[in-house]
Amino acid sequence: MEFGFSREQLDFRTEAEDFVRGELPPDWDQKAIWWPGGYGTIPEMETAFEDFSRAFLKKLGAKGWLGLSWPEEHGGQASMIKQAILGDVLSYYRAPAGGVAVSIAAPTIILAGDQELKREFLPRIAAGEAGFWLGYSEPNAGSDLAALKTSAVADGDEYVINGQKIWSSGAHVTEYAWLMAKTDFDAPRHKSATLMIVPNDAPGLTIRPIINICGFHSFNEVFFDEVRIPKKYVVGQVNRGFYNVMLALQFERLAVGVGAFRRVLEELVQFARETEVGGEPLSGKPDVRAKLARMAIELEVFYTLYWQTAFMLETGRVPEQEASALKLMGTELGVLFAQSAVDVLGPFGLLDTASKWAPMAGRIALGYLDSISGPIGAGTSEIQRTIIATRGLGLPRGE
Ligand SMILES: Cc1cc2nc3c(=O)[nH]c(=O)nc-3n(C[C@H](O)[C@H](O)[C@H](O)COP(=O)(O)OP(=O)(O)OC[C@H]3O[C@@H](n4cnc5c(N)ncnc54)[C@H](O)[C@@H]3O)c2cc1C
Repeated sequence: MEFGFSREQLDFRTEAEDFVRGELPPDWDQKAIWWPGGYGTIPEMETAFEDFSRAFLKKLGAKGWLGLSWPEEHGGQASMIKQAILGDVLSYYRAPAGGVAVSIAAPTIILAGDQELKREFLPRIAAGEAGFWLGYSEPNAGSDLAALKTSAVADGDEYVINGQKIWSSGAHVTEYAWLMAKTDFDAPRHKSATLMIVPNDAPGLTIRPIINICGFHSFNEVFFDEVRIPKKYVVGQVNRGFYNVMLALQFERLAVGVGAFRRVLEELVQFARETEVGGEPLSGKPDVRAKLARMAIELEVFYTLYWQTAFMLETGRVPEQEASALKLMGTELGVLFAQSAVDVLGPFGLLDTASKWAPMAGRIALGYLDSISGPIGAGTSEIQRTIIATRGLGLPRGE
C-alpha cells in the first residue's frame, strides 16, 4: 500500500495555489462567506460576484483546469486526483469552481451525450463560458423526484416544456437549465423522464428569486410556459433521465468543497490563539480545545474518504457507497463545524457581516444559518443513508 501524492501531483497543487492566490481580489476573504457543506453562501451564485466569477472561470478554462478529469480526446487529462487536488485548493480559497456545468453536466454529456451535444457544449464548458443550474426539484417532487410533473411534449423537431422547478440554485447567474422533465406519462415512473438542456433565454422561461435564510439570493423558482427546445438538446436516451442522473451523481460527489472546512478550522485555531477572555487565552480553555480537536479528527476522516473516492474514480471503480458517504459526511460536518464555531466564538459568534465587531468576517453566524441547508440539498441525509444501506450494504429496500 502506498499512501501519498506523486511529485507531479504535489507540483500541481503548488501551481494551483499560486494561481488562485494571484487571481483573487485582496478583499475576497472579507466578502466571500461560503460556509463549508452549505448551499446558500457559495460566492459563485451571488450576483455581486458574477463578473469576477465569470472572468475567473475563463482563466481556469484557459489553463485547461475545468476539464482535468475528462478523457484526453475531449481535451482533459483523465485525472480525478488532479481534479480532487484542484477542488481542495479552490474551496480552501472559497474560489469559483464551475458548479453544475463542471461537476454534473460535462461528465454526463461525456458518458451519455451524442457527438453533436459534445461538440456544442464541452468546449464551452471547458472554456468557462457555459454555466448550468440543476432543474430537478419541484414543489411536490424532492426526494421523490419521480413524482415530477414538468412535462416535455414532442412537437416535430422540438420539445415543448411546461411546468415549474424550485430551489433552483444559481439559475440567475448561469446560461442553461440541466432539466429533468416528464416525457412519457404512461410509463412506469422511473422510465418516464428525460434529461435535457434548456437555454435560460428561451421564450417562456421565467426566473424568480427566492431569498435564502442568510438573506442571499442563491436559489430561485423557475417557470416554463410553452418553452421550446430543439430535440438535439436531449441528453442521453429519451425516458432514461433517472438512469443518467444516477450516472452523474458519483462524479458530482467530489464537489464537496473539502478545503473550505480546512480553512475554517485554521481560522478558528488562530482565533483561539489570539483571543483572550477574562485575561485567559481562549486556546487554554478545555472545552475550546476539545471542540477544535474533534473538528480536526472529523476533518481528517473526511479527507481520507475524499481521496479514497477520487482514487476509486481514477482507477475506474464506481464509488457509489463512498460517494453517498462523502455527501452525507460533508454536509453533516458543516453542521458540526457551525455549532462548534459558535461555541468557540461565544457571543461574538452571533454577529454577522453587518457588525464591525464580528470575527471572521461574520462568517460564523451566517454559516450557522447556512449549515442546515447541507443535509437537505442534493439528496437529504436520510436518502444518503438509505443508498448506503441498500446499494452499499445490500440491505433490502424498506417500505
Ligand atoms: C439550499 C438548497 C439548494 C438547493 N438547490 C437545488 C437545485 O439547485 N436544484 C434542485 O433541483 N434542487 C435543489 N434543492 C432541493 C433539494 O434537492 C430538495 O430540497 C431535497 O431533495 C429534498 O426534497 P424536499 O425539499 O422536497 O423534501 P422532501 O423530499 O419532502 O423530504 C422531507 C423530509 O422527509 C425525508 N424523506 C423523504 N423521503 C424519505 C424516504 N424515502 N426515507 C426517509 N426519509 C425521507 C427527507 O429526508 C426530509 O427530511 C436545494 C435545496 C436546498 C435546501
